Amino acid sequence: MATKFVLIGSGLAGGLLAAYLGRRGYEVDLYERRSDPREGSLVGGRSINLALSTRGIHGLEQIGISDEVLKYAIPMRGRMIHEKSGALHFAPYDVDPNKHINSIGRAALNTTVIEAAQQYPNVRVHFNHKCTDVDLEQAAARFETESGVVSARGDAVIGVDGAFSTVRQSMQLKIPNFEYDESYLAHGYKELTIPPGANGSWQMEKNALHIWPRRSFMMIALPNPDGSFTCTLFWEFEGPRSFATTKTDDDVRRFFEEEFPDAVQLMPNLLEDFKTNPTGSLMTIRCAPWFYSDKVCLVGDAAHAVVPFYGQGMNAAFEDCVVLDECLTRFTEDRQRAFAEYFERRKVNADALADLALGNFIEMRDKTASKTFRAKKKLDHFLEAALPGIYLPLYAMVTFTRIPYAEAERRARVQDAIVYASLITIAAIVISVLILLV
Ligand SMILES: Cc1cc2nc3c(=O)[nH]c(=O)nc-3n(C[C@H](O)[C@H](O)[C@H](O)COP(=O)(O)OP(=O)(O)OC[C@H]3O[C@@H](n4cnc5c(N)ncnc54)[C@H](O)[C@@H]3O)c2cc1C
Repeated sequence: MATKFVLIGSGLAGGLLAAYLGRRGYEVDLYERRSDPREGSLVGGRSINLALSTRGIHGLEQIGISDEVLKYAIPMRGRMIHEKSGALHFAPYDVDPNKHINSIGRAALNTTVIEAAQQYPNVRVHFNHKCTDVDLEQAAARFETESGVVSARGDAVIGVDGAFSTVRQSMQLKIPNFEYDESYLAHGYKELTIPPGANGSWQMEKNALHIWPRRSFMMIALPNPDGSFTCTLFWEFEGPRSFATTKTDDDVRRFFEEEFPDAVQLMPNLLEDFKTNPTGSLMTIRCAPWFYSDKVCLVGDAAHAVVPFYGQGMNAAFEDCVVLDECLTRFTEDRQRAFAEYFERRKVNADALADLALGNFIEMRDKTASKTFRAKKKLDHFLEAALPGIYLPLYAMVTFTRIPYAEAERRARVQDAIVYASLITIAAIVISVLILLV
């Protein structure tokens, strides 16, 4: 009999992983607490659109659905920085203009991965099943459904149930010395909309990720295929100027007019959106181990939720699916070894990504506004063009390659040290020559 996997959570990674496992001929039962996204329910409950890049595209490619997903994607070739004065600066992501990230809709992507999984007759998807508990020894899960409590048992349970994972909570309760750390940012986020212009046109540059950097906070906007932009305000929960103190329509209007004067003119539904849309929190989760014998394993945000500032959470979750598939194929007869190998390969990189994502918040909200930052980006691109294959900026390694995150971080540190040492040496030589000349 074929091995049976019980997957909890049919979000972005759950759907894709079910397709990978289905392709290998495993029996797969995928359980999701929400209703079928094709019936119009919200998926994931988070951002409406996401930036998809090389790692994520590779994960989709392996299962043959990258072209379908990219058909509806909007390429974003760089950052468009909006100053308070209304001045705009465009900073390309890479020296190669063909390198870009892609704005894609979460709901459409979620449906595509679920449908890719459902192409395999050995994959069954069960919506409206909320997992409440996992029995680690039995590889069995319990669910609340409209018709009462049901349970499912497999050879292994995989938790692909996101940052607030129930599978991980069961591991926390039952595995002695299970390491768990969660940390929340002092900032929350709220989604707002810039609707399409006349005839469905885009009211700002379409092929860019827009940023309004304001030092301790920022707003960003990603384009959608219908001509709209989804804006996300990342702002302190508490403080003299914060979500907590901005309550009335006047407060909201004044804040936006002061900070984002060019955007506010394009946001006719600002007050309604601000009141109605929830304020989300941003967390980093680190845990270990990600598996229990050959019975339970964690994938995606369930194992390693990160803050969204590198645009890599989903991309990393898709990379998890690729690596787990490779490990299960390599150790077909020893699932525990496959889980252990997967954990070994991914944990160090998930930890590196968590740090990179936190660091990029400071870069986006503060540094992108500075001339020094723009000069450093130009220097990066100059060196990348002058030293092809030798010098690769950190952003390019993370976004446009599949170099493991930890290695990218280490390589960037070495590169930066060499560049700064060279700049200091050149400056010292120039100063010495000038002194000799005068
Ligand atoms: C504001 C914001 C912007 C982001 N932008 C980007 C971006 O641009 N690029 C990028 O790569 N990443 C981005 N991310 C991160 C990305 O959203 C996540 O990394 C990605 O969704 C992780 O996929 P997942 O399948 O692991 O989890 P999820 O997508 O969260 O899916 C988990 C699924 O499990 C289901 N579930 C949960 N609990 C249960 C239960 N008890 N029983 C049954 N089902 C359950 C949920 O309903 C959901 O469908 C962003 C995140 C946020 C918050």
